[in-house]
Amino acid sequence: MKEPNEITFRESVDRMFDRATATMDLPLGLAEQIRSCNSVYQVQFGVKLGDRYEVFTGWRAVHSEHILPVKGGIRYADFANQDEVEALAALMSYKCAIVMIPFGGSKGALKIDPRQYSEKDLEKITRRFAQELAKRDLIHPSLNVPAPDMGTGEREMGWISDTYQSLFPEQANGMGCVTGKPVHLGGIDGRVEATGRGVQYGLREYFRHPEDIARARLDGSLEGKRIVVQGLGNVGYHAAKFLSEEDGAKITSIIERDGAISSADGLDVEAVKAHIAANHGVKGFPGADYTEDGPAMLEAECDILIPAAMEGVITRQNAAKIQAPLIAEAANGPVTYAADEILREKGTVIIPDAYLNAGGVTVSYFEWVKNLARIRFGYLERRNEERRGQMLVEALEKMLNTTVPQEIRDQLTTGSDELALVRSGLDDTMRNAYNNIRDIFNAREKVVDLRTAAFVCGIERIAKRYESMGI
Ligand code: NAD
Repeated sequence: MKEPNEITFRESVDRMFDRATATMDLPLGLAEQIRSCNSVYQVQFGVKLGDRYEVFTGWRAVHSEHILPVKGGIRYADFANQDEVEALAALMSYKCAIVMIPFGGSKGALKIDPRQYSEKDLEKITRRFAQELAKRDLIHPSLNVPAPDMGTGEREMGWISDTYQSLFPEQANGMGCVTGKPVHLGGIDGRVEATGRGVQYGLREYFRHPEDIARARLDGSLEGKRIVVQGLGNVGYHAAKFLSEEDGAKITSIIERDGAISSADGLDVEAVKAHIAANHGVKGFPGADYTEDGPAMLEAECDILIPAAMEGVITRQNAAKIQAPLIAEAANGPVTYAADEILREKGTVIIPDAYLNAGGVTVSYFEWVKNLARIRFGYLERRNEERRGQMLVEALEKMLNTTVPQEIRDQLTTGSDELALVRSGLDDTMRNAYNNIRDIFNAREKVVDLRTAAFVCGIERIAKRYESMGI
């Protein structure tokens, strides 16, 4: 999306990249090599839907192949375009490097409004798009592994997986051609919630550092913090749900396509989700104030603003009016380059997308490893863990001549299942990456904010790899 006087999404990401590399000492030309999108494929294909034919346009961009496979979601949106796909592919390269997930960066899109099509038609279109990409190795378990993004989910990933495996039944690792599949089709527990869960873990880590909290003119913990969320889709719903149900934050406004609802006491995220499913929007949600002007609510007074819908929603037009002292970028690219500069001047702290929404690709990585290894996480060790926990409880009771309380006994004697292990790995990833970023921010004078620090963190790792590989 391009606002008047605003550069494009890809240019915006490139400028953020340039701002980071200006603080680094890279060999001549290496920054250019890392920043360039290696290739982008555009396809047009026709599909017969009932008694008519329709032609669709899709893209798959491969930004950086310094590690294979490359990884990145496939989005379905009527506004999709090549510039956006290239920007998102670049963000994937930096994101994977920031959280140390061993993938290069890629992204795909199909120009379509999925809400205008029946499930049967969507399946036909998705299968055809998957064939087009698979023919050119743009879906491949060792080369290019898509995942869900805006407008796609488990259902589409299941169709893509089945299409690929029907085309190449001889490939032993075929199941790893795509992630975000339903669990019964080789997916992994915790993938659906992963990006929102990662946003929660990232915010929790931020709130473990009092000096970082103070920089946003906030204090205390997440408890009671007023949060405005834009977009109650996969990412926004899970982030809002976990932050309100588990951390005691208050979701004071939810902005959707048809407007925004607000309640000073906090909105019940599950109830809002159910209302949207039944009414195709937030309008009419009982007990909340409604406004048709959704974007205006981005400017509402709150503690944390979580844009979780799409790119380019905070621009040079509204940046100065944003009141939230802390912006947690759950969507990709919600703040344009121009807005980013205005917000920094204003003292707004931004936890950047390339770090904060990396939960999706992190758990996708676990899923891919699971597919290649053909074994679910926790399978071998779970009962053994339980047995050791049981022995510990018995030893404690014998030595202390007392009974271990039931709650502690349950915790000690429950082995880790796949979901627990996935969450543990994701938490570890988000904690480590935030600390890597803040260390760079604190140690280097020329690094002006967390976004620049995150870019420096990712670019340094990619650069090191290129230098050692010897291109
Ligand atoms: P989604 O399609 O599940 O949800 C998007 C939500 O935003 C929907 O509820 C939609 O109605 C709403 N929305 C769309 N346009 C809007 C507008 N103009 N104003 C207000 N609401 C609007 O998509 P998602 O998967 O949750 O992705 C959201 C963002 O997160 C995207 O930027 C995506 O690239 C990013 N992201 C997603 C994942 C993932 O795992 N799904 C991972 C990383 C980043």
